[in-house]
Amino acid sequence: MDVKYRVYAFEISVRTSFIDASHAFLSSPDMFLYPANMLHEPSTIHIIPYKGWTTVSTSLEKVNGDSFTRYSPDYDILFDSPIEIGTQDVFGFIAAGVNYEVVMVGGGNYDKERLKKDMATIVEEETAIFGENPNKHYTFIVHNALQGGGGLEHLSSTTLGATRGNYDKGYQNFLSLAAHEHFHLWNVKRLRPVALGPFDYDNENYTTNLWIAEGFTAYYQDIIVRRTQLYTPENYLGVMANLISSMEEQPGAKVQTLAESSYDAWIKAYRPNENSGNNSISYYTKGAIVALLLDLEIINDTKGKNSLDDVMKYMYDEYYKTLKRGYTDDEFKQGLEKFAGKNLDDFYAKYINGLTPIAYNTYLNYAGYKLTNELENNNDPALGITTIPGTNRVIVATVVKGSAAWVDGINVNDEITFIDGIQVVSTESLLTGKKPGDKINVTLIRDGITLTLPVTLLKSPRVKYKIEELANVTPAQLVVRKKWLTLK
Ligand SMILES: [Zn+2]
Repeated sequence: MDVKYRVYAFEISVRTSFIDASHAFLSSPDMFLYPANMLHEPSTIHIIPYKGWTTVSTSLEKVNGDSFTRYSPDYDILFDSPIEIGTQDVFGFIAAGVNYEVVMVGGGNYDKERLKKDMATIVEEETAIFGENPNKHYTFIVHNALQGGGGLEHLSSTTLGATRGNYDKGYQNFLSLAAHEHFHLWNVKRLRPVALGPFDYDNENYTTNLWIAEGFTAYYQDIIVRRTQLYTPENYLGVMANLISSMEEQPGAKVQTLAESSYDAWIKAYRPNENSGNNSISYYTKGAIVALLLDLEIINDTKGKNSLDDVMKYMYDEYYKTLKRGYTDDEFKQGLEKFAGKNLDDFYAKYINGLTPIAYNTYLNYAGYKLTNELENNNDPALGITTIPGTNRVIVATVVKGSAAWVDGINVNDEITFIDGIQVVSTESLLTGKKPGDKINVTLIRDGITLTLPVTLLKSPRVKYKIEELANVTPAQLVVRKKWLTLK
């Protein structure tokens, strides 16, 4: 039986297909039919390129050396292998005994030789954690755009978004993203929560463990860049401090647990609304912070002998290689406990299933550091709103829970026109010369009607954390620090 069909493809993202006259990116699940009950069948894809297109890039094997004919042994692999076709710039390197291909689409100010060298070091560092690199070849497909970012992991490839003009000052960010998606080839593509494989394509796949699958990966993306020496220790501590600041500023961190955040990913994480910051927390951000705490806990408890790396390798060997299945919540916890040498019930109750404020300094002190807030004594007032960017009108996009705007009734979509009778032209000038406790009159347009609301300004809830060295560092703290930050 022949089935012919056309697919409309014009959405640019790492998880959707896009075709125009310059190139095609085929995200397999929305390009190929899903043959129920035939998922184990092999398939062959023959590509007829548009005029002038010369290159096909995918992790699918060639048939008889023909780049335009590709083979997949089953549908899971087909659906997990995006295909890029066009005139892309392709270069390669060998690392950990694996052939790597970097596929640059859309141009950019990247330095190939530098990327080859640095990406190879990242691959080597990540492979060292697991003791093996299970692919024969691996493809990085990079979509360079005016403004780009994000990534999506696959079994033997990944698609990354990048900003084409940002390879100089955003270089470390690009490497960190590449390290993140590549780390997934172990953590989530092979070592995975039970709900995430074998895939059930007919239903949503709920798991409370995305804080491990994504959060731990988000932790490793930066510690790996540190291990390659591409971040100095100071760079790295700055990245961690920023992560902590972003979580602590989010009111949703006091509302949603890490396990709930993971569980709700299907219906919430990729459909944020104006209130998301107030009632949810990212399992990437808090998951990475939890990984940091656990890494420090394990290093400290074992006096520098073990780290989170040992847990990852053990879980990979035990569940992916030996048992050939995913892990349950309890099994991952047991893996952590095995290397921490202690029961983690309390840790889970507080930080995974509970909303206890994180005792950062308990953990940072293990390595001779402490967390300080540079804005501790700051007395700036804040309304507690964000506004819609790219317009010279001041239109409220979000209202922060508990802020002055929240308490005194400013709403999303309100257009603020005057404060104390003076026309407002920008958010920066909104509160010049004011302090917390001051009363102001905010005039705004709400659905075509002008209102004036009295608002009492509150202190800005902004934080800016820094990880600082303790004054007297003990030899025991130094042992933890050296292991954590890969210091000589
Ligand atoms: Zn990820």
